[in-house]
Amino acid sequence: MLIKTNTYDIEADVVVIGGGLAGHAAAIEAAQHGADVLLLEKQPECGGSSVLSGGFFAFAGTDIQKAAGISDSNELLFDDIRRAGQQQNDEALVRAYVEHQMAAYEWVVGQGGKFTSVELAAGHSAPRAHSLKPQDFMLTLAQRAHEAGGGRVKTLLNARAERLLRTSAEMRVEGVSANIEGKAANIRARRGVVLAAGGFSRNEAMLKLFVPHQAQCVRYGGYGNHGDGVRMAWALGAGLRDVAHIKGTFGFHPDSATTPGRDWTKLAVYRGAIAVNKQARRFVDESKSYKLLGDAVLAQPDARAYQIFDQGIMDTASDTAPPFKFREALALGRLLTEPTLEGIARRVELDPATLAATVERYNGFVRAGRDEEFGRTGLSSGYGKLAELKRGPWYAYPSTSGLIATYCGVTVDTETRVLDVFGEPIAGLFAAGEMTGGFHGVAYMTGSSLGKCVIFGRIAGRNAAAFAAG
Ligand SMILES: Cc1cc2nc3c(=O)[nH]c(=O)nc-3n(C[C@H](O)[C@H](O)[C@H](O)COP(=O)(O)OP(=O)(O)OC[C@H]3O[C@@H](n4cnc5c(N)ncnc54)[C@H](O)[C@@H]3O)c2cc1C
Repeated sequence: MLIKTNTYDIEADVVVIGGGLAGHAAAIEAAQHGADVLLLEKQPECGGSSVLSGGFFAFAGTDIQKAAGISDSNELLFDDIRRAGQQQNDEALVRAYVEHQMAAYEWVVGQGGKFTSVELAAGHSAPRAHSLKPQDFMLTLAQRAHEAGGGRVKTLLNARAERLLRTSAEMRVEGVSANIEGKAANIRARRGVVLAAGGFSRNEAMLKLFVPHQAQCVRYGGYGNHGDGVRMAWALGAGLRDVAHIKGTFGFHPDSATTPGRDWTKLAVYRGAIAVNKQARRFVDESKSYKLLGDAVLAQPDARAYQIFDQGIMDTASDTAPPFKFREALALGRLLTEPTLEGIARRVELDPATLAATVERYNGFVRAGRDEEFGRTGLSSGYGKLAELKRGPWYAYPSTSGLIATYCGVTVDTETRVLDVFGEPIAGLFAAGEMTGGFHGVAYMTGSSLGKCVIFGRIAGRNAAAFAAG
């Protein structure tokens, strides 16, 4: 929106839009760099998708990995993120992630984040998904923001940013029009505006526009994630990236569409489970990225699969890492069990003879060391050893694809400046987190979104605090 003379009701040095992880990282950093910060969150509470997440952060070479005897490096991390993105991600952004990742790890720990384990997950050629409890961490972070810079961050809830305001003379973004507790207000940003408003996994119109083929996915993600940030920047001419690559996540329980709750994703495939369709047949190399598995399940009858596994895999369950909390899923009635393979087949209405033949054929591949059907060579991305499935009781997790995040959006450079469609910075406007495009390319590597929120959120906060008008 271009208005000749903006009149303002509220002022701050930096205005941050969105109270998820990226917004909090930006706010804390801006405050620590001497800025008075106003953090706007449209929902009655902060957290967004960050608080619903699995809590995996992708870092490499940490003390936790070293203590677990895991060898990892910046080079491996770089290659994995680029490979997951099928080399279509912005190399400079991936390099910036790698360059800042260790500092980001230390920052999370320094802010009170408590990592409990490190797991192997999609796209990792070494276990590097550092797991923490996102609810605890986001609460701690809100408190840290409150204290940052000696009390320089003010958070407003029920405060929806609606449009970015620019000066007519300089075309600089100098503020935000918002709706705060039902009242319109213009807010001036004396230095910069940081967009950290998350993705648009709950905006049907935008999903229909960019990825109509994902219509069968269950919709999930932060309740306020309607793409407001993307649209506000788009309205000022921001470029967009990666929108055609929006993908669902495999392992989502179909009941999540109608039943409120958290932790609906289970990824027993990365512990060695097989995935079968309604015809009781495997349909994919289960060690692939769960984004690619998401596409594969959409092509199956009713977009439905079952992760089938035995007690050997159940024994690898975690009680802290959400995708592997099989015991909790069992207690909640989401994971089903029966003493025999035939019993579990009947329970989920699969043909028992076909399922038995599928398992036997798969076990033959494991024994021979070669999966002749789909070429699966490990638990995830070729890492980890496969085992035969043969020890009851048996388990089945009904699974489909869930659109939990969009991982695409406005074009930014490594300094988080929002770039317009011609690649030129939109003065005074910075963006970080899920609403930015270019970093992931074709597909996301597990843990890289939360990692990216910290890394680029901090850069955005710093740069917005340093941005000088005029
Ligand atoms: C179930 C699930 C599991 C996941 N697991 C992982 C994982 O383990 N590892 C990983 O890396 N990624 C994971 N992700 C993705 C990751 O959680 C998100 O990409 C990331 O948290 C996004 O953070 P963000 O700060 O950019 O946005 P969010 O955390 O979504 O925060 C954006 C905030 O902006 C607010 N907002 C929106 N519009 C406005 C407006 N107009 N005005 C004011 N406020 C506004 C929203 O209400 C929201 O609170 C998962 C996501 C889900 C849903």
